Amino acid sequence: MVEVMTTKVPLGVSACLADCPVRYNSKRFDALGKMGRERADFAITPVCPECMAGFGVPREPIHLTGTGQEVLAGEATVENRHGRDVTAQLVSGAQACVDALERAGVRVVILKEESPSCGLFKAKVGRSRRREALGSGVFGAMLAEKGWFLIPDNAFDSPLTWWDWRRRMHAWLWLSDRQIAANGDLTAAWHVIKFVLQETGRKSADEMGRALAALPKHASLSELEALRAKMLEMLRTPTTRERAMSALWKTYSHARKSGTLEGVDLHDLTVRSPEVRRNVTTIAEELIGLERISFENDLLFGTTPVLYRERRRLKARDESLGKISER
Ligand code: SF4
Repeated sequence: MVEVMTTKVPLGVSACLADCPVRYNSKRFDALGKMGRERADFAITPVCPECMAGFGVPREPIHLTGTGQEVLAGEATVENRHGRDVTAQLVSGAQACVDALERAGVRVVILKEESPSCGLFKAKVGRSRRREALGSGVFGAMLAEKGWFLIPDNAFDSPLTWWDWRRRMHAWLWLSDRQIAANGDLTAAWHVIKFVLQETGRKSADEMGRALAALPKHASLSELEALRAKMLEMLRTPTTRERAMSALWKTYSHARKSGTLEGVDLHDLTVRSPEVRRNVTTIAEELIGLERISFENDLLFGTTPVLYRERRRLKARDESLGKISER
């Protein structure tokens, strides 16, 4: 049976990605617009650390002399175009944003890459062009320290990349919140998410399978939590187009062969084998079609083991399946 979350995910987002004109040059992006109607599935809190630093709009661009982590450790600084040290202001602005996100119950944030503040992996680091490297911005580094689920804005590069980030995010939240008190709880959680992890990293998934098998009969809470933390970390790894196609085909053909889809309304879903050339939009449509069937018929498909649906839809689904809704 598929795991269904009915609480809207509190989602933090770099404000300039949410169509707010807060960039240093007053520009903005409508990245969230690419979610379409799905945007209503989230409770969104936009934040801009540079605005909260009091830099204003428009403003002088800033740059880092080291990574965001080095800035937070006092080993590097943030400077404006005139070489003025604005580190303290930016750190305060970033902290104000973290505080706002915490008040909103956020644990998932979408960040604007390449920004010295919000960048996650690709902020430009270094004073001279020749020495430039890539790393986290100051706000990105602060959020990484919190252990939240952070999504770079290139998640919106295609419907397939967004599908992948979304399904891993739901699985990450579900696993984070699950009560793990005994070996059986962790093993049961593993059986729900393992297909995603086998898809995104076969070697580490095999290692996790062995680590679970090697647990003592009554493992301590700290041993269980250590493995949960590892699984959560593994859920941060993106898939590839090839892996997603192969997992989709494997899931679909297995469901067909085992008779799971007999009598099920497929809504004209056609899943093609990985050899059939098609674009990422079509692949994502097939995956989302499978999610629809999974939800409507309460079937667990490994490609998306955790879904979000409104409570009223879950209730209606359970009534149509003749089940008592427990959620
Ligand atoms: S600080 Fe972050 S939210 Fe503000 S404009 Fe820059 S990238 Fe966007």
